[in-house]
Amino acid sequence: MKLADILAHKGYKVHSIGPSAALAEVVQVLVRHNIGSLMVCGEDDCKRMLGIITERDILRACAARRHLETTEAGEVMTTDVVTGSPSDSVEDTMGVMTENRIRHLPVLENDELVGLVSIGDIVKAQHDALTMENHYLKSYLHG
Ligand code: AMP
Repeated sequence: MKLADILAHKGYKVHSIGPSAALAEVVQVLVRHNIGSLMVCGEDDCKRMLGIITERDILRACAARRHLETTEAGEVMTTDVVTGSPSDSVEDTMGVMTENRIRHLPVLENDELVGLVSIGDIVKAQHDALTMENHYLKSYLHG
């Protein structure tokens, strides 16, 4: 299975925010959409990806006693973003996410953001594939 298959099933929407948004707003957007990361983008609808901000960055900012109302997303985001491609396999992506200790992977095609997969999407895809394989093996064995 490829990342393109996951995106076709879950959709292509990627939530984003501007670099000057306060962390308090980031928290509100994460909670509102029930997600764990936002792409940090320029004004041109994420044609220019500046970075990524996740729950973990908010947690670090809290631990460093930074104020959520006055600290901006651009100050705590990760700028060196690891990305995937729609043609990447789920197995390879699992390795990339584990090695880099990240749970969110933006997917780019021809340098354009076309979606985002989370570790949850990857686990679900693997689980569905194994369940299907198990089903076929059982029907083969039991007729
Ligand atoms: P996560 O496990 O995805 O919540 O992220 C853990 C840390 O890695 C945070 O500091 C994120 O900003 C960073 N991070 C998450 N996803 C990526 C990514 N695709 N590329 C680079 N850094 C990331």
